[in-house]
Amino acid sequence: MDCLFCKIINGDIPCSKIYEDDTVLAFNDIDPQAPVHFLIIPKQHIKSVDEINSGNSAIIAHIFEVIAKLATQLELADGYRVVTNCGKDGGQSVGHLHFHILGKRSLKWPPG
Ligand code: AMP
Ligand code: ZN
Repeated sequence: MDCLFCKIINGDIPCSKIYEDDTVLAFNDIDPQAPVHFLIIPKQHIKSVDEINSGNSAIIAHIFEVIAKLATQLELADGYRVVTNCGKDGGQSVGHLHFHILGKRSLKWPPG
């Protein structure tokens, strides 16, 4: 499958990895929008939030457990943002579900 993030998971494209286990991978965003900006993705190819269902939602729960652990490790006690863009209007540019974690600066709301 021609999927950038599947290629990163397979090791065909390098990444700056910060965490990996059997089901998820976290790595720094190549174009950081904050001093801390990493992505966490399921190793299973799920297109977007649209494809989350009762058969794969345990992975999503695990992703959020890992986010909480990494936030502690990366000393994000002042706060951070978790974002997932879905589809064209949501601004999704890579068609493999991913959560952005942004921290270490004060973030504006609402986004543009
Ligand atoms: P989105 O626009 O929500 O689909 O987010 C895709 C993100 O993937 C963007 O923030 C990109 O900077 C990031 N990205 C694209 N290619 C790579 C790569 N090879 N390694 C790390 N991050 C990437
Ligand atoms: Zn994929």
